[in-house]
Amino acid sequence: MLDKKYIGRFAPSPTGRLHFGSLVAAVASYLDAKANSGKWLVRIEDVDGSRTVPGAASDILKTLEGYGMHHDGEVVVQSERSHIYRQIIGDLLSKDLAFGCACTRKDLESVGGLAIYPGTCKNVPPPGVQPRSVRFKMPRENLQWQDLIKGGQRASSASASDFIIKRADGYYAYHLAVVVDDAEAGVTRVVRGEDLLESTPSHIFLQQALGYATPEYAHFKLALTDEGTKLSKVNHAVPVEIEEAPEQLLKAFEFLGLAGIEADTPEKLLAGAVKVWHIKSQA
Ligand code: GLU
Repeated sequence: MLDKKYIGRFAPSPTGRLHFGSLVAAVASYLDAKANSGKWLVRIEDVDGSRTVPGAASDILKTLEGYGMHHDGEVVVQSERSHIYRQIIGDLLSKDLAFGCACTRKDLESVGGLAIYPGTCKNVPPPGVQPRSVRFKMPRENLQWQDLIKGGQRASSASASDFIIKRADGYYAYHLAVVVDDAEAGVTRVVRGEDLLESTPSHIFLQQALGYATPEYAHFKLALTDEGTKLSKVNHAVPVEIEEAPEQLLKAFEFLGLAGIEADTPEKLLAGAVKVWHIKSQA
């Protein structure tokens, strides 16, 4: 049991309806919050408006309710929070912790790829060109951190890249929004899919630059398609229906390693799962 009040969250992107992969993320974060007598918040991650599907957010919220997962507090919607992200970026720029970047994708490809930013605009922006995006000055430090499921993690300074926090198309980046929103909501533990394990060092360095506490992290394995790729709205994963809540919840429990839960309503199934839930280290 934690010595501080537990606040967890589920943060779906409204790029389509809830599917089995996102249901697993919802269930894992919900069970962990409830097993720790904590709060479970829901945040709609529509910071990238170009990917938002109209109606998906309300559909996801309705499905969560239909599956018996009732959130605490108000639902936070990232697209309503641009003024906050703008102010944080202003602070980072004024403290020299971020910089305007004029590089195009083509510029970066011509100097060896997009993975690690070569620092072109970092100290002296090229004369006469307008910045297009804003990048965070990633510290050139090694980082060690502990994931509750994956165990000890290391990120080497050699792979540190000054990542984008405001995009050339005007949208704020997910990596900025997630850090700001988790901190503002007082999230103490992030339970999410392992596709975000690699981004976590960027989130931790940004938290440190902004003076935020770092939450605990638990990255669970993802539900995959038969071809071994991440189940996602992009590859048209089949949406889960409210009518099939008991079966789908049992499938999600099984995926998360929980067995022997029997009940006839989603709420009772979840209550049974909370009792046997514990985070298992896969390290
Ligand atoms: N919005 C992300 C997704 O739907 C999850 C981000 C997170 O949990 O930090 O994949």
